[in-house]
Amino acid sequence: MRKLFMKCPGCGTTHFINFYARKHYVCPDCNYHLTLSPIERIRLLTKPGSFKEFNKDIHTIDPLVFPNYDNKLKVAHKKTHNRSAVKTGTAKIGKYNVVISVLDADFMMGSMGAVVGEKLTRAIEYATEHELPLIIVTASGGARMQEGVISLFQMAKTSAALKRHSNKGLLYISILTHPTTGGVSASFAFLGDIIVAEPNALIGFAGPRVIQQTIGEKLPEGFQRSEFLLEHGMLDLIINRAKRTSVIENILKIHNISVQLKPKTKQLRKPSTARQDIMEILALARHKNRPTSLELIQTIFTDFIEFHGDRAYADDKAVVGGIALFKGMPVTVIGLQKGKNTKENIYRHFGMAHPEGYRKALRLMRQAEKFNRPIINLIDTPGAYPGVGAEERGQAEAIAVNLLEMSDLKVPIISIITGEGGSGGALGLSVANKVLMLENSTYSVISPEGCASILWKDAKQSPTAAKALKISAFDLLKLGLIDEIIPEPEEGAHADLKLTARNISESIHTHLYQLLTMNANELLQQRYDKFRNVAFYGE
Ligand SMILES: [Zn+2]
Repeated sequence: MRKLFMKCPGCGTTHFINFYARKHYVCPDCNYHLTLSPIERIRLLTKPGSFKEFNKDIHTIDPLVFPNYDNKLKVAHKKTHNRSAVKTGTAKIGKYNVVISVLDADFMMGSMGAVVGEKLTRAIEYATEHELPLIIVTASGGARMQEGVISLFQMAKTSAALKRHSNKGLLYISILTHPTTGGVSASFAFLGDIIVAEPNALIGFAGPRVIQQTIGEKLPEGFQRSEFLLEHGMLDLIINRAKRTSVIENILKIHNISVQLKPKTKQLRKPSTARQDIMEILALARHKNRPTSLELIQTIFTDFIEFHGDRAYADDKAVVGGIALFKGMPVTVIGLQKGKNTKENIYRHFGMAHPEGYRKALRLMRQAEKFNRPIINLIDTPGAYPGVGAEERGQAEAIAVNLLEMSDLKVPIISIITGEGGSGGALGLSVANKVLMLENSTYSVISPEGCASILWKDAKQSPTAAKALKISAFDLLKLGLIDEIIPEPEEGAHADLKLTARNISESIHTHLYQLLTMNANELLQQRYDKFRNVAFYGE
């Protein structure tokens, strides 16, 4: 008999099964995401009737003649009506054709033996050959013990197929669901260009019980859950199932557009040179209501999707970034993010990035290069974060690697100083083809206060230091170190976000249009020359 009611494994509330079905199988009381069969997942994610299955009948031959494996397979087959732990095929999400593969946690814990590996690899190779984006939904305990090292090698096989898919500039979105562990997490699951997860899914390498036994300690609440992984830089996004299809569709849309930017004819008005006092400019650059990067991103661009994490240590809140459209054209946009009040500023580390922030930015910039998207960076930072953790994780190395790698990215880069351009912390995102500055922003090797206390041994001398350092946009334009000054509203950028954003947008338009006429070699040469030609000497 078919069950009518079901108890939520999360909170214990009982609901009609049909009720769950209407809610994407998510508990309305505790947001618990119920485990689904592959066919239900495909139904929720893709256009009705569009799924065409590959290799339905491939099945295992029990290569090691492993004790009792045969029996386990029979049970799994009976339970799921499938012959393997994965379904693969083509489908449509919105109007986009994709190759989709979904693992089945109910079939021997979704473990990967030779058949799962083979079906996945064939699906990936099909996507590569037909130049299609790939989506893999995981739910797995890892490699399948009953197939020994044959199973282990499927990790290498699927990963190698993904590398070929990636080398063709194709998109792979990995969707992690509860649970994703072991050899599956340590191979294809964590190789997505974009990695998203369902809320509260268990995701990790070793199972929590193994870890607990090994270290002999109780594990903290939330350990190895999606939210823990996001915090530790491993995920781009956590998405509720109800919103997932539209987010995936938007990601596919941005990766599908090839829009040519139209030329821009209107010129920016020249910035006033009325404000001469550097301390006045500095006060405006640091104004508590100065537009933040996120405010500017949301006003200048459309369809912004924020991505998180450096895939190594953490998600730095002082750096935001993701993909968006600029006048219909896909771009990668990254910003150093300050807060608007004390609470936000603590959360954002006052706009001072840690090494993981620079590494997140570089990860997103490399992705931009892969998908041939221009990069727009918005800079507003007092400097890179000075702290013990930042040193332990290699702050200097992180900035240095950005300088090196940014010099070699084969897409246009525009960096805009919107507030404080604080030293190496700002330069770490500013090795660009065009460096632009808002009228009342500053760019400096050290804060005037820092300079005054080192050279004058007196912080009260900071106006003298500020003047001597030549940190205003006007000074830097005169020295030939920046390309343009973007005008601000009369009272400063904080007085009118929309007007400020419009001016920045027009400036990006002019410069981006020009950069898009250049090929990769020309872009690299122009960027090289720009910094190579900073040469002031006598001989
Ligand atoms: Zn519940």
